[in-house]
Amino acid sequence: MATSSHRSFRLPESKAHYAPAREFRTLHRKIELSVDFQKKSISGSCTLVVEPIRQGRGEVHIDARELDVSSCTVDGAKVDFEYDDALLTVPLPGKSGVRSIKVEYSATPKEGLYFTAPDAEHPEKEVQAWTHSEPESARFWFPCHDHPSDKSSSEMVVRVPRGFRVISNGRLVSEREEADGAVFHWREDTPHSSYLTSFIAGKFSQITQEVHGVKLHYNFPESKRADVLRYFGETPRIIEVLEELTGTKYPYEKYDQTTVQDFIAGGEENLNATTLSMNYYPEAGTEEDFQPMYSNPFSSAVSLVAHEAAHQWYGDWVTCSDWCHAWINEAWATYLESLYTERSRGADQMRWEMRAREVEYFEEDETQYRRPIVDREYVWPHDVFDHTTYRKGASMLHELRYLMGDEAFFRGTAEFLNKHAKACADTDDMRKAMEAVSGLQLEEFFEQSFLKPGYPEFRVEYAWDDAAKTATLRVKQEQDTSDGTPIFKLPCDIVFYVGGARKQFRIMLGSAEQSLVFSLDAKPSVVEFDPERWLLKKLKFEKTFDLLENQLAQSQDAWSRSEAATALGKTVSDRAIPALKSASKKEQFWDVRACALRALGEIGSDAALAALLEVGVPSERRVRRALAKALGNFKDERARKILIGFLEGDDSPYVR
Ligand SMILES: [Zn+2]
Repeated sequence: MATSSHRSFRLPESKAHYAPAREFRTLHRKIELSVDFQKKSISGSCTLVVEPIRQGRGEVHIDARELDVSSCTVDGAKVDFEYDDALLTVPLPGKSGVRSIKVEYSATPKEGLYFTAPDAEHPEKEVQAWTHSEPESARFWFPCHDHPSDKSSSEMVVRVPRGFRVISNGRLVSEREEADGAVFHWREDTPHSSYLTSFIAGKFSQITQEVHGVKLHYNFPESKRADVLRYFGETPRIIEVLEELTGTKYPYEKYDQTTVQDFIAGGEENLNATTLSMNYYPEAGTEEDFQPMYSNPFSSAVSLVAHEAAHQWYGDWVTCSDWCHAWINEAWATYLESLYTERSRGADQMRWEMRAREVEYFEEDETQYRRPIVDREYVWPHDVFDHTTYRKGASMLHELRYLMGDEAFFRGTAEFLNKHAKACADTDDMRKAMEAVSGLQLEEFFEQSFLKPGYPEFRVEYAWDDAAKTATLRVKQEQDTSDGTPIFKLPCDIVFYVGGARKQFRIMLGSAEQSLVFSLDAKPSVVEFDPERWLLKKLKFEKTFDLLENQLAQSQDAWSRSEAATALGKTVSDRAIPALKSASKKEQFWDVRACALRALGEIGSDAALAALLEVGVPSERRVRRALAKALGNFKDERARKILIGFLEGDDSPYVR
């Protein structure tokens, strides 16, 4: 019996989660709160306008965690409620139809609402209060049906000390000073889930930009003013590109982005009022260190801003109907980051970025667990917010785009967003929207991609028959299928360069082992398997020295050239040096230059060092990082001198 090499995602306390029954639809919620920064508490009321779904039951149950509830009224009349610190049971006496339930309460929340203040160790910290409710922490600071499937309009009326500002969802209806404080009244008419309702209170400065009539507000502590536009300055372009990609105009009247003290996530896509960490303010001159995805995932302000902006469509405008479909929010936001990179920085950079994400997913897969993207069996809803949902999910959308073609794929996203606007959707809804625009049957693809675990691990062997003028590729899928990982059915590009021309064949993969035979005019100089990197996969494809050398020099696809450079380094042969040296100097795409430099380091011979010294110090920080790594392989005074120069004087902290 084969045993799976992967640990299970299941824990003893895992169980299948299904959306809770709905007793009512929330039409509107109005939250009125006074914030006490000293006591780290709130007090006030929440009024829910609800429409019971099954009339005549006589009561409804509302999520409310550890609130101190003092009274409850229905349509203005006091009622006797029951409360067990988790569910509030409210009787609905008399008539049927729409009811207004007002709950008066106070709370010192341990989740959902957070307070920050300076202390002895950190006197610079800001006095702030901010909420973070995803997935199910809204109930710690206001009573509601706390599930993404219940969407309503909202109002937020918050009283704070004088000098403080409150930022929330929608439009600022009024702002008034009172003797002992200030009251901010916000209103959002677009129906949204409880976890997207938010407020932030603190002392903030503001810079405003505009795109297509939408005001973009950046809220920040005054100490960060010099860095604000490095963090948020690309927002107008990001919104513009997202409108094009989604085929949907930015659907709200404004967009606030606010950086808060000690935020517990990178960013959170609260409805048109994104909350972000203070940790991503790039310093002057470090833009290149922080190219999207360069140093670390999410260390780049641009990709973080693009991710949260993308959620304003995927997540907020259309929301996953339950947490097991969280990829609808997160895979889309992640993929749209990459699509923004493709538009703003080119396809090579986008493919490089997708690869960086996949590496993280592979690490989770290898060291933690393997699970399908859509998975109901977890302990907490947080558990599905992992690399499988974000990274593998984004790769599956990339494959779907490949399968459908750009025209249908992008029409499908617009169709989906239009059809489920202001509502919720699940994996089947996405499939149906994509089928409707393409005419394709996508059930099999969705099943393999979203409902089954894993990815293909290909081994490819190539042979040329000079008499028959045929190239044969033997393609094996070697992944362990004992845990439900399938043999994948996928299109794949096989590319040959013959007499200087690029010949591309799109074939269908679908069995554990298959032989593909191609008739060509002459022996190809380059043989490539998925050179545009459409597929999430692992690939073992041993190539001859000549094939690798030609690939580095001739391939049109930067990723393929990078791979050739890396593989040439692994030959540890001085024969590879001229090709690598040439690529280090002339290559257009930075990653190929970086791979070539690292490969020279890997070869490690005197001739390789001579080549590195001849190439000299690259002007780009990210390529200098590769040179620093390469030089580290040599115990040589000349290499040491350059490295000391980097340590003492390079303007990139990563190079240093
Ligand atoms: Zn996200």
